[in-house]
Amino acid sequence: MIDPEALAAEETPPPARPLAGQSAAAGARSGIATAVRSAVPNAIRDGGVVIRPSTGARVRWTPIEAVADEYDAAQAMRSRGYSCLGVIGNASHLRGSGGHTPWCSEGYAGRACKVGKVYAIDLEAPNMTGLERWLIPRLRAGSYKWVYYLNINGHQYTRKDSFRGRYSSADQHLHLSGLAGHENDNSSILRDYENFRTNGGEDMAQVPQAQWDRVRKQLDSIDDVVHGGNGAAYRESAMKRDHQSQVEQLKEYVDQRLNTIEAKLDALLGTTTPPPTA
Ligand SMILES: [Zn+2]
Repeated sequence: MIDPEALAAEETPPPARPLAGQSAAAGARSGIATAVRSAVPNAIRDGGVVIRPSTGARVRWTPIEAVADEYDAAQAMRSRGYSCLGVIGNASHLRGSGGHTPWCSEGYAGRACKVGKVYAIDLEAPNMTGLERWLIPRLRAGSYKWVYYLNINGHQYTRKDSFRGRYSSADQHLHLSGLAGHENDNSSILRDYENFRTNGGEDMAQVPQAQWDRVRKQLDSIDDVVHGGNGAAYRESAMKRDHQSQVEQLKEYVDQRLNTIEAKLDALLGTTTPPPTA
Protein backbone atom coordinates (compact mmCIF):
# COMPACT_ATOMS: atom_id res chain seq x y z
CA MET A 1 0.00 0.00 0.00
CA ILE A 2 1.09 3.54 -0.66
CA ASP A 3 1.14 5.68 2.47
CA PRO A 4 -1.13 8.66 1.73
CA GLU A 5 1.00 10.85 3.95
CA ALA A 6 3.97 10.12 1.72
CA LEU A 7 2.11 11.63 -1.21
CA ALA A 8 2.21 15.19 0.11
CA ALA A 9 4.90 16.14 -2.38
CA GLU A 10 2.55 15.82 -5.32
CA GLU A 11 2.99 17.39 -8.71
CA THR A 12 3.81 21.05 -8.33
CA PRO A 13 2.76 23.53 -10.98
CA PRO A 14 5.52 24.36 -13.45
CA PRO A 15 8.16 25.52 -13.69
CA ALA A 16 9.71 22.95 -11.42
CA ARG A 17 13.27 22.91 -10.22
CA PRO A 18 15.79 22.64 -13.04
CA LEU A 19 17.06 19.11 -13.49
CA ALA A 20 20.51 20.04 -12.25
CA GLY A 21 19.12 21.33 -8.97
CA GLN A 22 17.27 18.24 -7.86
CA SER A 23 18.08 16.78 -4.50
CA ALA A 24 15.38 16.95 -1.84
CA ALA A 25 12.59 16.00 -4.21
CA ALA A 26 14.57 13.28 -5.92
CA GLY A 27 13.99 10.79 -3.17
CA ALA A 28 10.40 11.78 -2.54
CA ARG A 29 7.67 9.26 -3.20
CA SER A 30 5.86 9.88 -6.43
CA GLY A 31 2.42 11.39 -6.06
CA ILE A 32 -0.29 9.12 -7.34
CA ALA A 33 -3.90 10.16 -7.21
CA THR A 34 -6.53 7.85 -5.80
CA ALA A 35 -7.63 5.41 -8.42
CA VAL A 36 -11.16 5.70 -9.69
CA ARG A 37 -11.93 2.27 -11.06
CA SER A 38 -15.12 1.09 -12.58
CA ALA A 39 -16.17 -1.61 -14.99
CA VAL A 40 -18.92 0.62 -16.35
CA PRO A 41 -17.95 2.47 -19.53
CA ASN A 42 -18.32 6.25 -19.30
CA ALA A 43 -18.64 6.05 -15.52
CA ILE A 44 -15.65 8.34 -15.19
CA ARG A 45 -17.67 11.17 -16.77
CA ASP A 46 -20.12 10.97 -13.86
CA GLY A 47 -17.31 11.94 -11.51
CA GLY A 48 -18.30 12.02 -7.85
CA VAL A 49 -18.43 14.11 -4.69
CA VAL A 50 -15.57 15.02 -2.34
CA ILE A 51 -15.38 17.04 0.86
CA ARG A 52 -13.15 20.09 0.61
CA PRO A 53 -10.99 19.91 3.76
CA SER A 54 -10.53 23.67 4.10
CA THR A 55 -14.27 24.42 4.12
CA GLY A 56 -15.98 21.13 4.87
CA ALA A 57 -18.13 21.69 1.77
CA ARG A 58 -19.26 18.84 -0.44
CA VAL A 59 -18.02 19.48 -3.96
CA ARG A 60 -19.31 17.66 -7.03
CA TRP A 61 -16.63 16.94 -9.57
CA THR A 62 -16.37 15.69 -13.14
CA PRO A 63 -13.20 15.28 -15.19
CA ILE A 64 -12.39 17.42 -18.21
CA GLU A 65 -13.16 15.55 -21.43
CA ALA A 66 -9.53 14.85 -22.31
CA VAL A 67 -8.95 13.20 -18.93
CA ALA A 68 -12.06 11.06 -19.43
CA ASP A 69 -10.81 10.04 -22.90
CA GLU A 70 -7.42 8.98 -21.58
CA TYR A 71 -9.07 7.15 -18.69
CA ASP A 72 -11.26 5.24 -21.15
CA ALA A 73 -8.26 4.42 -23.33
CA ALA A 74 -6.29 3.06 -20.36
CA GLN A 75 -9.27 0.91 -19.33
CA ALA A 76 -9.80 -0.37 -22.86
CA MET A 77 -6.11 -1.26 -23.29
CA ARG A 78 -5.49 -2.81 -19.87
CA SER A 79 -4.50 -6.14 -21.40
CA ARG A 80 -1.80 -4.30 -23.37
CA GLY A 81 -0.19 -2.90 -20.25
CA TYR A 82 -1.98 0.45 -19.84
CA SER A 83 -3.62 1.55 -16.62
CA CYS A 84 -5.07 4.59 -14.91
CA LEU A 85 -3.55 5.18 -11.49
CA GLY A 86 -5.97 7.93 -10.56
CA VAL A 87 -7.98 11.02 -11.42
CA ILE A 88 -9.52 12.55 -8.24
CA GLY A 89 -6.93 13.06 -5.52
CA ASN A 90 -6.59 11.30 -2.18
CA ALA A 91 -6.86 13.14 1.17
CA SER A 92 -3.36 14.51 0.76
CA HIS A 93 -4.09 15.94 -2.70
CA LEU A 94 -7.41 17.40 -1.54
CA ARG A 95 -5.69 19.50 1.12
CA GLY A 96 -3.95 21.29 -1.76
CA SER A 97 -5.30 22.78 -4.96
CA GLY A 98 -3.56 20.87 -7.75
CA GLY A 99 -4.91 19.24 -10.88
CA HIS A 100 -6.35 16.25 -8.99
CA THR A 101 -8.74 18.51 -7.08
CA PRO A 102 -11.98 20.12 -8.33
CA TRP A 103 -10.73 23.50 -7.05
CA CYS A 104 -7.59 23.52 -9.14
CA SER A 105 -5.60 26.74 -8.89
CA GLU A 106 -3.34 25.97 -11.85
CA GLY A 107 -4.73 28.38 -14.42
CA TYR A 108 -2.60 29.68 -17.24
CA ALA A 109 -2.44 32.64 -19.64
CA GLY A 110 -5.11 34.59 -17.79
CA ARG A 111 -7.57 31.70 -17.68
CA ALA A 112 -8.62 30.05 -14.43
CA CYS A 113 -9.57 26.41 -14.01
CA LYS A 114 -13.29 25.77 -13.57
CA VAL A 115 -14.46 24.84 -10.09
CA GLY A 116 -15.86 21.31 -10.16
CA LYS A 117 -13.56 20.13 -12.95
CA VAL A 118 -10.65 17.74 -12.42
CA TYR A 119 -7.86 18.45 -14.89
CA ALA A 120 -5.27 15.76 -14.11
CA ILE A 121 -4.83 12.04 -14.60
CA ASP A 122 -2.09 9.57 -13.65
CA LEU A 123 -1.30 6.82 -16.14
CA GLU A 124 0.98 3.88 -16.76
CA ALA A 125 1.90 2.63 -20.23
CA PRO A 126 4.21 0.01 -21.66
CA ASN A 127 7.76 1.26 -22.28
CA MET A 128 7.55 4.56 -20.42
CA THR A 129 10.87 5.82 -21.81
CA GLY A 130 9.57 5.08 -25.30
CA LEU A 131 6.40 7.01 -24.47
CA GLU A 132 8.40 10.04 -23.34
CA ARG A 133 10.58 9.90 -26.46
CA TRP A 134 7.46 9.71 -28.63
CA LEU A 135 5.25 12.25 -26.82
CA ILE A 136 7.52 15.23 -26.23
CA PRO A 137 8.33 15.98 -29.90
CA ARG A 138 4.60 15.81 -30.68
CA LEU A 139 3.77 18.31 -27.96
CA ARG A 140 6.53 20.59 -29.23
CA ALA A 141 5.04 20.30 -32.71
CA GLY A 142 1.62 21.43 -31.45
CA SER A 143 -0.35 18.23 -30.83
CA TYR A 144 -2.62 17.73 -27.81
CA LYS A 145 -3.31 21.39 -27.14
CA TRP A 146 -5.23 20.56 -23.98
CA VAL A 147 -2.05 19.55 -22.13
CA TYR A 148 -0.76 22.22 -19.76
CA TYR A 149 2.13 20.22 -18.33
CA LEU A 150 3.15 16.65 -17.73
CA ASN A 151 5.43 14.60 -15.55
CA ILE A 152 7.02 11.34 -16.70
CA ASN A 153 10.06 9.27 -15.72
CA GLY A 154 11.17 11.88 -13.19
CA HIS A 155 10.91 14.71 -15.75
CA GLN A 156 8.52 17.62 -16.12
CA TYR A 157 7.65 19.43 -19.36
CA THR A 158 5.39 22.48 -19.64
CA ARG A 159 3.54 24.56 -22.18
CA LYS A 160 5.11 27.64 -20.54
CA ASP A 161 8.22 27.06 -22.65
CA SER A 162 6.52 25.08 -25.43
CA PHE A 163 7.67 21.83 -23.81
CA ARG A 164 11.31 22.59 -24.66
CA GLY A 165 12.77 22.49 -21.17
CA ARG A 166 13.13 19.38 -19.06
CA TYR A 167 12.66 19.87 -15.33
CA SER A 168 12.76 17.43 -12.46
CA SER A 169 9.69 15.72 -11.05
CA ALA A 170 9.07 13.14 -8.33
CA ASP A 171 6.65 11.33 -10.68
CA GLN A 172 7.73 8.28 -12.62
CA HIS A 173 4.24 7.57 -13.98
CA LEU A 174 2.68 9.82 -16.62
CA HIS A 175 0.89 12.73 -14.95
CA LEU A 176 -1.08 14.84 -17.44
CA SER A 177 -2.44 18.23 -16.37
CA GLY A 178 -5.02 19.94 -18.54
CA LEU A 179 -5.14 23.56 -19.64
CA ALA A 180 -7.83 25.93 -18.38
CA GLY A 181 -10.14 26.76 -21.29
CA HIS A 182 -9.74 23.31 -22.89
CA GLU A 183 -12.32 21.49 -20.77
CA ASN A 184 -14.08 20.01 -23.81
CA ASP A 185 -11.08 18.96 -25.92
CA ASN A 186 -10.83 15.30 -26.80
CA SER A 187 -7.55 13.42 -26.39
CA SER A 188 -5.98 10.31 -27.89
CA ILE A 189 -2.47 10.24 -26.45
CA LEU A 190 -2.50 6.62 -25.24
CA ARG A 191 -4.30 5.37 -28.33
CA ASP A 192 -1.94 7.22 -30.68
CA TYR A 193 1.05 5.88 -28.79
CA GLU A 194 -0.26 2.33 -28.92
CA ASN A 195 -0.88 2.73 -32.64
CA PHE A 196 2.66 4.01 -33.09
CA ARG A 197 4.08 1.13 -31.04
CA THR A 198 2.26 -1.58 -32.89
CA ASN A 199 1.63 -0.25 -36.42
CA GLY A 200 4.78 0.78 -38.16
CA GLY A 201 5.98 3.04 -35.40
CA GLU A 202 8.32 1.19 -33.14
CA ASP A 203 7.90 -1.78 -35.46
CA MET A 204 9.99 0.16 -37.94
CA ALA A 205 12.71 -0.14 -35.33
CA GLN A 206 12.61 -3.90 -35.81
CA VAL A 207 15.41 -4.07 -38.33
CA PRO A 208 15.23 -7.49 -40.03
CA GLN A 209 18.14 -9.81 -39.23
CA ALA A 210 19.26 -10.00 -42.88
CA GLN A 211 19.48 -6.23 -43.03
CA TRP A 212 21.36 -6.20 -39.74
CA ASP A 213 23.85 -8.75 -41.11
CA ARG A 214 24.43 -6.59 -44.20
CA VAL A 215 25.04 -3.65 -41.94
CA ARG A 216 27.65 -5.62 -39.97
CA LYS A 217 29.48 -6.55 -43.20
CA GLN A 218 29.34 -2.96 -44.35
CA LEU A 219 30.82 -1.82 -41.06
CA ASP A 220 33.59 -4.43 -41.27
CA SER A 221 34.52 -3.34 -44.77
CA ILE A 222 34.60 0.34 -43.80
CA ASP A 223 36.73 -0.57 -40.81
CA ASP A 224 39.15 -2.46 -43.10
CA VAL A 225 39.51 0.56 -45.37
CA VAL A 226 40.00 2.97 -42.49
CA HIS A 227 42.48 0.95 -40.47
CA GLY A 228 44.23 -0.95 -43.28
CA GLY A 229 47.04 0.89 -45.06
CA ASN A 230 47.57 4.59 -44.43
CA GLY A 231 44.92 6.04 -42.10
CA ALA A 232 45.99 9.61 -42.81
CA ALA A 233 45.45 9.10 -46.53
CA TYR A 234 41.97 7.82 -45.79
CA ARG A 235 41.11 10.81 -43.65
CA GLU A 236 41.92 13.10 -46.58
CA SER A 237 40.18 10.99 -49.19
CA ALA A 238 36.85 11.37 -50.95
CA MET A 239 36.12 7.86 -49.73
CA LYS A 240 35.68 9.24 -46.23
CA ARG A 241 32.87 11.50 -47.35
CA ASP A 242 31.31 8.54 -49.07
CA HIS A 243 31.55 6.49 -45.91
CA GLN A 244 30.22 9.28 -43.76
CA SER A 245 26.63 8.69 -44.81
CA GLN A 246 27.07 4.93 -44.50
CA VAL A 247 28.35 5.31 -40.96
CA GLU A 248 25.48 7.64 -40.10
CA GLN A 249 23.08 5.08 -41.46
CA LEU A 250 24.73 2.39 -39.35
CA LYS A 251 24.37 4.53 -36.27
CA GLU A 252 20.68 4.90 -37.02
CA TYR A 253 20.30 1.14 -37.20
CA VAL A 254 22.08 0.77 -33.89
CA ASP A 255 19.75 3.34 -32.29
CA GLN A 256 16.70 1.54 -33.63
CA ARG A 257 17.98 -1.79 -32.36
CA LEU A 258 18.57 -0.37 -28.89
CA ASN A 259 15.08 1.10 -28.83
CA THR A 260 13.66 -2.31 -29.65
CA ILE A 261 15.72 -4.00 -26.97
CA GLU A 262 14.70 -1.36 -24.47
CA ALA A 263 11.03 -1.94 -25.27
CA LYS A 264 11.47 -5.68 -24.78
CA LEU A 265 13.23 -5.17 -21.45
CA ASP A 266 10.44 -2.86 -20.29
CA ALA A 267 7.88 -5.47 -21.28
CA LEU A 268 9.85 -8.03 -19.30
CA LEU A 269 9.88 -5.77 -16.23
CA GLY A 270 6.14 -5.34 -16.64
CA THR A 271 5.57 -9.07 -16.37
CA THR A 272 7.88 -9.64 -13.44
CA THR A 273 6.89 -6.84 -11.09
CA PRO A 274 3.56 -6.75 -9.24
CA PRO A 275 1.03 -4.20 -10.44
CA PRO A 276 1.19 -0.85 -8.61
CA THR A 277 -1.21 -0.30 -5.77
CA ALA A 278 -2.89 3.06 -5.69
ZN1 LIG B 1 -0.84 13.08 -10.82
